[in-house]
This record gives sequence, C-alpha cells and structure tokens, in this order.
Amino acid sequence: MTLVPGLAQTDRRVNLPMSRENAAMQPLLLIDVDGPLNPFRAPWFGQRKAGPGFEFHDLTPAGGITYRVALNQEHGRRLAALSCDAFDLVWATTWLDDANALIAPLLGLPTDLPVIPLDRPNFPRGRRSWKAEQIARWVGSRPFAWFDDEINRATRSWLESTPNLGAHLAHRVEPHVGLVDADFAVLRSFADSL
Ligand SMILES: [Mg+2]
Repeated sequence: MTLVPGLAQTDRRVNLPMSRENAAMQPLLLIDVDGPLNPFRAPWFGQRKAGPGFEFHDLTPAGGITYRVALNQEHGRRLAALSCDAFDLVWATTWLDDANALIAPLLGLPTDLPVIPLDRPNFPRGRRSWKAEQIARWVGSRPFAWFDDEINRATRSWLESTPNLGAHLAHRVEPHVGLVDADFAVLRSFADSL
C-alpha cells in the first residue's frame, strides 16, 4: 500500500468540509520571511527598540553574515493556527533551510517545514518577482497562497497566464509593516473559498 503524506492526519479529523477530506486539496501557504515576517523597512527598524510585538534577533545563516531580524511571535501563532485547518506551510524565502533552523524556533513553528529551493537569478526576467517561475514549478497544480513583499501586478499576471497552475492567491505584504490582521483575513478567506 502506498501511503500518501497527510492522509493519515486527515483521517483523524472529524466534521471537515468535503473540500478538506482530500489532503491533496489542502492548499499550500508559501511564506516569505524578509518583508512579511521581518518588516525591514519599518521606520523603527534601525532603532534600538523594535516596534510593538516585535523583538530583534541577530541571526547568522549559512554564509556567515549576521543579520538583524525583527520577528513577532504573534505571527508564529497565527501561522500555526492557519496550518491547523487551512494550509500546509512551506518556506519560500532566501533563508532557505535557515528558515527552519533559525526563524521557525523563534516563532514557535515546526522546524521541518518544506523549503522551496529558490535560487536568485543574476538577471531577473521582466518585472515580476524572481521567485515566480521557481514557485510555479515547485507547486505544480496544487492550490496555494503566497505572501511576499515583492509580489506586484506583473507577478500576478504571469501566474494567471501560467497553464496548469492550481487555484492560487499571490498576496503582497508591505515590508514597512509586515503581516497584519488584514493579511491574515485575506489568506483565511482564500482557503475558505476553495
Ligand atoms: Mg521578501
């Protein structure tokens, strides 16, 4: 018998709507770190004290350069809540495996989430986010929501015109604010719409 990841977990759930009974239909939530979780353009970012709810951390990813990052544990709680009944969480960030190693523990998220192996091109094509093609390849036809501070109109229209992509939401988060209530509401309503 071939085991399908996620099905055993789904079997334990009760009173799920029909669309949630098939784990293959559970949408992915693709998580960008810099901008949405780490609002590096916030007016307080260069100051000693982080903004309300945020704490500064000095993190040293592979490569050895130390970066100051501001994280908000409430983001972790709310992402964990979304992963309970709406999405499967996936890292879509240049932090790559360091998202699991360094960011996840500070947000109280699992440290073994899938990581999209993004590779920033030397010469991005067009005005769309450089992640778009690699994300489209990785997700296949599975529904997904993706939040990122580099999503723009060109990114959305490229995704729209990409054949065989599943239902998706490409949602821009402002890097001077980070994820806020309205963003979580948009993500939740996308999941509910499937
Ligand atoms: Mg970003």
